[in-house]
Amino acid sequence: MPKYKSSEILKPVKRIHGGIKLEHHKNTADMFTETLPEENIPTVTIPMVQHIGAPCSPIVKKGDRVYVGTKIGDSDAFVSSPVHSSVSGTVSDITTVTMATGNKVQCVVIDNDLSNTPDPAIKPHPVKTAADLAAAARECGLVGLGGAGFPAHVKLSINPEKPIDTLIINAAECEPYITSDYREIIENTQEVYEAIYLIKETLGIHNCLIAVEDNKPTAIQLLYEMAASPKDKNNEIRLVKLSSRYPQGAEKMIIYTTTGRIVKEGLLPADVGCLVMNVTSAASLYRFVKTGMPLISKRITVDGNAVKKPKNLICKIGTPVSAILDYCEAAAPDMVLYGGPMMGTALSDLSSMLLKQNNAVLAFCGKQASLPPIQNCINCNRCFNACPMRLNPKAIIDSYESGADAATLSSHKTMLCMECGCCSYICPAGRPLTHTIRLAKGKIKQGGKQ
Ligand code: SF4
Ligand code: SF4
Repeated sequence: MPKYKSSEILKPVKRIHGGIKLEHHKNTADMFTETLPEENIPTVTIPMVQHIGAPCSPIVKKGDRVYVGTKIGDSDAFVSSPVHSSVSGTVSDITTVTMATGNKVQCVVIDNDLSNTPDPAIKPHPVKTAADLAAAARECGLVGLGGAGFPAHVKLSINPEKPIDTLIINAAECEPYITSDYREIIENTQEVYEAIYLIKETLGIHNCLIAVEDNKPTAIQLLYEMAASPKDKNNEIRLVKLSSRYPQGAEKMIIYTTTGRIVKEGLLPADVGCLVMNVTSAASLYRFVKTGMPLISKRITVDGNAVKKPKNLICKIGTPVSAILDYCEAAAPDMVLYGGPMMGTALSDLSSMLLKQNNAVLAFCGKQASLPPIQNCINCNRCFNACPMRLNPKAIIDSYESGADAATLSSHKTMLCMECGCCSYICPAGRPLTHTIRLAKGKIKQGGKQ
């Protein structure tokens, strides 16, 4: 297939407001993915919540024998996602662990017998109808793998009163350092292609836009070849090349830039006829349909200036972060993040485990791990200009710090904040704007009791 011509690829129909230009640091973009050896994972600790929604309850007990893919936690709640064992072995404990977010979560601890034996009950999960597809996503334990962790079966349970006319495959991967989706496209191109067909054909969607940033040339070429396939007789799959401006990959942003539609406060993508799926989520769903093996591992990028051997690495869910960093020869990091530098969560304990929605573990030391000193606001308005949601971060912070009630905080549209971190990044006074807005959102959720 010859190199694509620019005229064959769609341009965004809108530009995001604000946002920021970041150094990409995609150091691992050309590194083929390795797999963390089983012997490096003597034990996994698998939380019963790795998603937005209700927690699961363990359905195994101490001493039970489990296999790779055995379901170990489930819930009757619609907005929830089952969890599965990522190793074969024996349940050694059911305990409560304080997560990086500060939440206490029940976890199933499994001693790995290192045999990697799949559950004998696992078999392909054929899909014919839209209901089958949503059921498959649930049985897979699939959540938004771009970082959101929203249960995929909820998105795929299409309400007939809100028909979907556009499938958007999110391959933007706009956070610095992270290359896990990029490697998915390069290493599993055929699965990505089959996944797109599976979703669009099963749901009867005739318009599919694959959105990718212009800093991923190899992925653009491969996606172009996919979109130009003769199988796509009616030209229903098209590629949209986005400029690499953070946060292009945020769900509301990608809908706006590729279709021009605005998801208003309190509404969902389905309200504007869109279904957005992360590219690795889509491929994972296809793999589940073909094999029946649920989501038990994840490709992550391991990088940062404290990591001697940066890698793209497939790791079992529940693997301690310390085992991942040891394998990549990280030396005494001062700061470790789940996820990217803009939206990632800092870890205080390296025994924290890999979760389904993690797409990177970054370790930094020295100056790169330190935050600037906090100074008084100089009213420069840069935070307002950078906010892609057109919020006024300074006004929200001032309101929160002066003890405003939930109604006042809501009046600033605080709940629209997607915690992208642009305002904190751009603030010359080093004010922790995103962190404080997160606290303000918590206060609103609790009706002002904080
Ligand atoms: S973190 Fe929130 S307030 Fe700050 S720029 Fe992003 S969306 Fe706007
Ligand atoms: S960017 Fe920082 S210094 Fe500038 S107005 Fe916003 S809070 Fe104040």
